[in-house]
Amino acid sequence: MALDAQQVECLLKMIQDTRDLELSCPECAAQLDCYAQRILDGEPIDGLLQMVEQHLNACAGCNDEFHLILETIRAIGESSEA
Ligand SMILES: [Zn+2]
Repeated sequence: MALDAQQVECLLKMIQDTRDLELSCPECAAQLDCYAQRILDGEPIDGLLQMVEQHLNACAGCNDEFHLILETIRAIGESSEA
């Protein structure tokens, strides 16, 4: 299945657009505390944190780290409330 030049150009543009929108792993990691806190507080996810959410859906490594942070914040919250 061959792509014509226009399709290739379109695909490349899509890939570039996606890269512009996506966070790198370090950029995502820098926002994870904030993102996890919003989730736990039930606050809306907006702006940069929506990009964090996108990255977590696409990146298993950061998703693992996110769950660790989530558990940690939850544990701290429970121990301080008790
Ligand atoms: Zn990542």
